[in-house]
Amino acid sequence: MFKPFALAVAVSTLLATSALAQAAPDLTAAVALRERALADDTAYALTRELTTEVGPRIGGSPGYRRAAAWAVRRLTALGFRNVHEEEFPVGVWTRGEGRAELVGAYAQPLAVAALGGSAATPPQGIEAELAVFRTWPEFLAAAPDSLRGRIAVVLQPTTRTQDGSGYGAAGVMRREGPSEAARRGAVAYLHRSLGTEMSRAPHTGSTRYAEGVARIPAAALSTADAAQLERLAALGRPLRLRLLLTPTFDPNGRSTNVVGEIPGRGRLADEVILLAAHLDAWDLGTGAIDDATGVAAVTAAARLVAQTPGRGPRRTLRVVLYGAEETGPAGEAYATRNADSLSRIVLASESDFGDGPIWRARLPGALAAAPFGRAVAQALSPLRIFTTPEPARGAGVDVAALEQRGVPVFALSLDGSDYFDLHHSAEDTFDKVNPQDLAQVVAAWSTLVFLAATSEVDFRAATTASVPPAGGSGR
Ligand code: ZN
Ligand code: ZN
Repeated sequence: MFKPFALAVAVSTLLATSALAQAAPDLTAAVALRERALADDTAYALTRELTTEVGPRIGGSPGYRRAAAWAVRRLTALGFRNVHEEEFPVGVWTRGEGRAELVGAYAQPLAVAALGGSAATPPQGIEAELAVFRTWPEFLAAAPDSLRGRIAVVLQPTTRTQDGSGYGAAGVMRREGPSEAARRGAVAYLHRSLGTEMSRAPHTGSTRYAEGVARIPAAALSTADAAQLERLAALGRPLRLRLLLTPTFDPNGRSTNVVGEIPGRGRLADEVILLAAHLDAWDLGTGAIDDATGVAAVTAAARLVAQTPGRGPRRTLRVVLYGAEETGPAGEAYATRNADSLSRIVLASESDFGDGPIWRARLPGALAAAPFGRAVAQALSPLRIFTTPEPARGAGVDVAALEQRGVPVFALSLDGSDYFDLHHSAEDTFDKVNPQDLAQVVAAWSTLVFLAATSEVDFRAATTASVPPAGGSGR
C-alpha cells in the first residue's frame, strides 16, 4: 500500500488522486528504448565534437559564438525543430596572464588560475608577504585589518563525496574569500583549488565581490602547490609571493541560450518537457565533463525518444542549452524571456555533473509511489539506479529559475566521486570521458523522459499535492 498524501491538504488530495492514478505507462517500449540507448554512441560523438571543434567557451566569448553555431547546426542535423538562439546580456571576463612565484629563500613557481570575475593586479604585479591559513574558520578568525598589505592564502582541502556536498561546503572559499580577505586588509587572495585530486592543475570558477569592499585580485592555487605551501609555512620563516593576473572584463557582452524541439503529438503536444544542460564552459580545459557530456546526453536522449518506433513523444521535448551557467544569468534570462509560456512546461531537469553513472532518481512530489513512479523504478533499476520517495529539488543551476516559478522537476543524480578531480581545470578534456558511463546516463534520461512524454500524469497537480499544508517546504 502507498500513502503518498499523508501531509497534503484535503482539497489537493482529490486533485492528486486523479492526477496520479493513471494506468501504468508502456514499460515494454521504455525497456526497449533503454537497451537501444545503451548501444547508441551519439552522445559520445557529440562530446567529442564540442570539445574538439569548439573547446573553451566562456559565455559571450568568441569560443561561445562557435559553440552556439555548432549547437544550432547539430540540433538541426539531428532532426530537432524550431531551432533558435535566445540572446541575453552577460558580462564577459577574459583571463589574460596568471603567474605566481615565491621569492627569496624558497624561490619557486606556483601554479595558479585567476578566479572568474577576478580583478587584475597592477601591470607589474604585486609582491607581498603571505598570510597562510590552514582552514577557512582559522582565516575568518583573523581580525579586521590584521592582514594589511599581505596576500591571504587559505589551504582548506575539499572533501571527496559522491553527491558534491564536499565541494558545496568548500565553495565558500572561492565565492566569499576575496571580500573577506579585503575586509582584513589583504591586497590579494589565494585559496587551495576546489579540487579533490593532488595535481598542479588549478581549478577556476566564479567569485563575487561584496558591495563596498575593495575588489582585490584572487586566484586558485593548485592542490599540490597548496600542500607545498603548508609544508613551507610549517618551517616558520616568512614567505613572500609575487603575483601577476591580467584579466579584463567587458560588462556589455551578449550570450545566447540555444533551443531545439521534438514536437509532441495530439492532445498533450502543447505541454513541454524541458531538458537542460549548459553549453558554456571555463577556458582552461575544453569543458568535457562540465558540461559537454550534459549537452550531449540530453540531446541524444531527446533524439532517441523521438526515434522510438511508432511512438514519438506525446508531449513536446525542448532541449535548452544554456549560454552562461558559469558566469551569468542564463537561467533567469530564459525564465524571464519565456515568462508568458512557463505554464506549458510541465517538467524540467538539467544534466550538469559529469559523465555519470547515474545512481539515483527523484521525481516531482509523491510520484515515486504512483504507477508512473513504479514504472520509472522498474525501468531504471537494471541501470543500477534507485528511485527514492523524496521529492526532487534542486534539479540544476539553470532550471532553478523555473523551479522557483513552480515548474515540476525531476533529478537524476550523477556519481560525482571523481568529478572534482577535473572540474574547471585544464584537465577537463575529452580523454577523461567514459563512453559506457555516458551511455548509461543517456539510457536513464531517455527512458525517464519517454515515460514522462507518453504518460497521462499531471505533473503540476502531483507536485502541488505533495507540498505540506502549513509552514511550506523550506525551498
Ligand atoms: Zn562548472
Ligand atoms: Zn556545470
